Amino acid sequence: MRRKDREVTDPVRIREIIAACDCCRLGLCDGDRAYIVPLDFGFVENQGRYAFYFHGAQEGRKIDLIRKTGWAAFEMDCGHEWVLGETAQQTTSRFQSVMGGGPVTLVETEEEKRRGLLAIMAHVTGRDRWEIGRAALEKTQVFRLDVEELTCKVHP
Ligand SMILES: Cc1cc2nc3c(=O)[nH]c(=O)nc-3n(C[C@H](O)[C@H](O)[C@H](O)COP(=O)(O)OP(=O)(O)OC[C@H]3O[C@@H](n4cnc5c(N)ncnc54)[C@H](O)[C@@H]3O)c2cc1C
Repeated sequence: MRRKDREVTDPVRIREIIAACDCCRLGLCDGDRAYIVPLDFGFVENQGRYAFYFHGAQEGRKIDLIRKTGWAAFEMDCGHEWVLGETAQQTTSRFQSVMGGGPVTLVETEEEKRRGLLAIMAHVTGRDRWEIGRAALEKTQVFRLDVEELTCKVHP
């Protein structure tokens, strides 16, 4: 990162920022083009290793590209705020953001689908316990990004 003064490496701070983000943008390769899709997400963390969970329809462009490439970049941000100055040069924006990438896989087992959906629900609502019926599991596609690359930047 060019601006080392803005890089965040503290794992506690990184987790706080991920928890505060309400949308994850996935970047997928589509031949020699890029495809970006915004999604709700949930996460599980184990000793600083993150898995992000997503859900959606079983068909569509992102699912086709996940099947084809098996890899995604991601970006999420929060705390965005314009700071208006007297001049254009003094005008800036505050932000907190996390970027990275990793292998992305369609989740097949009922057990992990439920775990993924509960992670999303917990992130969105702050509540851990939800009933998720078998019919909902069957018609929902859940997929998981295992984060291999992650950087975090804050403009205070
Ligand atoms: C904040 C936010 C959260 C979302 N959360 C979820 C989620 O958790 N799960 C989920 O499945 N979807 C979510 N969506 C919708 C998501 O962005 C996609 O629209 C949806 O997942 C379909 O993607 P697809 O690749 O299957 O598109 P397709 O239905 O296959 O459509 C392909 C084409 O439609 C256009 N398109 C697709 N999505 C969008 C879009 N969002 N805006 C403008 N044009 C678009 C593009 O041109 C794309 O090439 C969210 C959207 C937003 C903005």
